[in-house]
Amino acid sequence: MLRFDIITLFPEMFESVLASSILARGIKLKKVQVKLHNLRDFAKNKWRKVDDKPFGGGAGMVMQCQPLFAAVKKIRGSSKKKIPVIYFSPRGEKLTQPLAENFAEKAERIILVCGHYEGVDQRFIDALVTQELSIGDYVLTGGELPAMVLVDAVARLLPGVVGKSESVAEESFSKALDRKKEYPHYTRPEVFQGMKVPDVLLTGNHAAIRKWRMQQTR
Ligand code: SAH
Repeated sequence: MLRFDIITLFPEMFESVLASSILARGIKLKKVQVKLHNLRDFAKNKWRKVDDKPFGGGAGMVMQCQPLFAAVKKIRGSSKKKIPVIYFSPRGEKLTQPLAENFAEKAERIILVCGHYEGVDQRFIDALVTQELSIGDYVLTGGELPAMVLVDAVARLLPGVVGKSESVAEESFSKALDRKKEYPHYTRPEVFQGMKVPDVLLTGNHAAIRKWRMQQTR
């Protein structure tokens, strides 16, 4: 069982993603657990305000240290092992399949912090974040979608979450395919609007099919 604790200002964004398809299955099978924490619940002011204007000026708001520190402290609680804290940011290390595999193989718990607005106070990152991750070179409105991307990419690698383990073993970026991109797939009918399925796939010759598929990876 791998447990994610997600700190966010918008917990409702996660509902349909966690309630659908393979992620819902992984949660039902208790292979993965996702706990959502609303950052506003940790704000120590009666307006539940969690952000303020940036020092030095400029546009946008910055998420403040106080609720972020309080949330991580509460989630870490009395846990003996130091639970890693991931902050999503365009400045972070790029999320890749080997990183996802590493989390799936080794992690027991992970805390995910979703930024919003301009991001979070750097002192939170310096003091408590163990890893900054980016999901690509573009800017989103918040870290919620990146958190869902990480949970999805990791959860499907946990044994038993995807029905057939072979579907996870041999696919794009996997070791089995030398980290290359996967070959194309076809299903019935054999001819659709004049477009034929490659002959080799209909031969039943497994060695030839294997060879063709390997040639089609890139
Ligand atoms: N001011 C920041 C962008 C803030 S976007 C900058 O220029 O880099 C608001 C929040 O969305 C960020 O704090 C981060 O948590 C999240 N975010 C945006 N794009 C992201 C990406 N490509 N990868 C991971 N997180 C991202």
